[in-house]
Amino acid sequence: MVYLDWAASAPVYHEVAEILKDISLKNYANPSSPHVAGERAKELLENSRKIISSILGCGSGEIIFTSGATEANNMLLYSLLAQQSRGSNIVISGIEHPSVYEPAVQLEKLGINVRFVMPENSGLIEPEKLLKKLDNKTKIVSIIHINNEIGVIQPIKQLVEAVREAEKRFGRKILFHSDITQAAGKTKLNLRELGVDAATVSAHKFGGPRGVGALYLRENLKISFLYRGGEQEDGQRPGTENLPGIMGMARALKLRSETIDRDYDVAQKKIDWLLDNIIDSGLCSTVPQSRIRENRIFSPYILSISIEPLPGEVIVRSLSKRGILVSTGSACSTRKKDRLRTLKNIGIPENTARSTVRVSIGWSTTEEEIEELLEGIKKLADLIPEKNRNYIQRGKWKV
Ligand code: PMP
Repeated sequence: MVYLDWAASAPVYHEVAEILKDISLKNYANPSSPHVAGERAKELLENSRKIISSILGCGSGEIIFTSGATEANNMLLYSLLAQQSRGSNIVISGIEHPSVYEPAVQLEKLGINVRFVMPENSGLIEPEKLLKKLDNKTKIVSIIHINNEIGVIQPIKQLVEAVREAEKRFGRKILFHSDITQAAGKTKLNLRELGVDAATVSAHKFGGPRGVGALYLRENLKISFLYRGGEQEDGQRPGTENLPGIMGMARALKLRSETIDRDYDVAQKKIDWLLDNIIDSGLCSTVPQSRIRENRIFSPYILSISIEPLPGEVIVRSLSKRGILVSTGSACSTRKKDRLRTLKNIGIPENTARSTVRVSIGWSTTEEEIEELLEGIKKLADLIPEKNRNYIQRGKWKV
């Protein structure tokens, strides 16, 4: 099997799987229990928090464990409902993951205005454009760091600076949140340096278990979340902690941090090679097309390509029959009407968007696997009707 769907979920490290088993069997006490086994579990929990926060570049008191990025994103956006926020607004990018976009749609129905800042055709969001969306009623800005479908890397630092400028102008706090799910464990980052107030991660994107993630929330921010229950996570995310999962997440992030830069460079070389050869095949265009010229503003772990006129589903199924696994955009929206939202919002024509598939690689993807993908793509030419083949041979997409 040639697994090229890492952005949907990465394989779990063996070491992490061992931790899951060991801790489940041996440290099953509740970290809130006052006895010695509970205290030990609590110690392990806090140790994981320290590991994760030091790798992400924040304080351990700033990490709230959750069941993943979806929960963390929902928690943060819906926190507005726990404050008196009717009549206020939030600003999100036009290319957010459904776990930010869908709660935003709900907020709109509940009296909180949602404004969209659209990216340029390159996929980048201009700080100036973001500034224009802000006013003295803006409570939250949420901009995805690395987009899960096209892999564009937003200039988060500059966007944060723009928001800080607006804060001064309006004399009030605007919370800057970034979904860093596709960046964490793959791209070196430091939350303090990035300057964001909140960020979300999910362990299974970097070799950890699924069903566990975290919300980073800057220390001095007092936010009231909607959840109520026990006092876990300072009462902000009540519920018995998933200790095996959290420890697995910490170990995975530690393992990733040890080779993160080297792996990034290797992934870059692989994706550059794939890009060159894919374009030479005359069958594909990159999505967006400008990626060929501006490849460095994209994550080397995610590449979207379009093979017109084949529908994305046909491409995925045909490659899958050959044991090559890619996907049509985000796994979270493959069956939804909303599937093309991100692509449309960066100005991709509908036909191209419908023929787009996402290839996402990982730190253990081999050159042979990438070569197999290329061969698989070339074979797709057989599916393209004769009249369209001329069109492809003319090299419509050659640059
Ligand atoms: N944000 C982004 C950018 C993602 O890629 C994903 C995973 N598809 C999520 C959030 C949601 O993560 P999870 O399903 O683990 O909650």
